[in-house]
Amino acid sequence: MPILPILTFPNSLLRKKAKPVKIIDDDLKDLISNMTDTLKHAQGVGLAANQVGVLKRLCIIKASPEDNYNAYINPEIIKKTGTRFVNEGCLSFPEYNGIVKRSVSITARYLDETGGKIKIAAEELLSQALEHEIDHLNGILFIDHLKEHEKLHKNGIEDGHHNHDVKISVKVENNNKEKFDSKLYTKIGIDDLNLALEKADILKEVKGK
Ligand SMILES: [Zn+2]
Repeated sequence: MPILPILTFPNSLLRKKAKPVKIIDDDLKDLISNMTDTLKHAQGVGLAANQVGVLKRLCIIKASPEDNYNAYINPEIIKKTGTRFVNEGCLSFPEYNGIVKRSVSITARYLDETGGKIKIAAEELLSQALEHEIDHLNGILFIDHLKEHEKLHKNGIEDGHHNHDVKISVKVENNNKEKFDSKLYTKIGIDDLNLALEKADILKEVKGK
């Protein structure tokens, strides 16, 4: 089965609202199978159809080692309970993460691959993943939920995210590569994603003391 390319921010399809699935046919089953392989390959928790360029309300989630890769067709959240802050990333933002506000638990409904109507109560990672993936289907990205004082940071970097005194500077120039802290950016260098994040004013640079 082919591994599909995963679109990265700021690809415009990530901002489009996906349309409800009307028929569960062989094409949709192929898409489910290919998205499942793609998610496995990427070792992610969830993948929404927008992320592979298909504007259908479909996502694949595997929220724990015991879970299968489940397909959620036309998923909807019907109840949210509580709030919590969690560190979150996204396959469309490789190597970035940030603190976002999510529900403690949710109730959701969706169709499974056979068209069966399912209603589930979810908590922990499944709840978070369903909120994240259903957001994708509505053109919403996790960066839209970053806490006000919080910015996106590279994985593995001490973020000091509860330290309000941390110095934050956001670069808007895209022709000034030398200005970046080499300690933070040596691994992948400055790429298109970084530039897009800077332009969107969501990249945090934690300065040394
Ligand atoms: Zn995502």
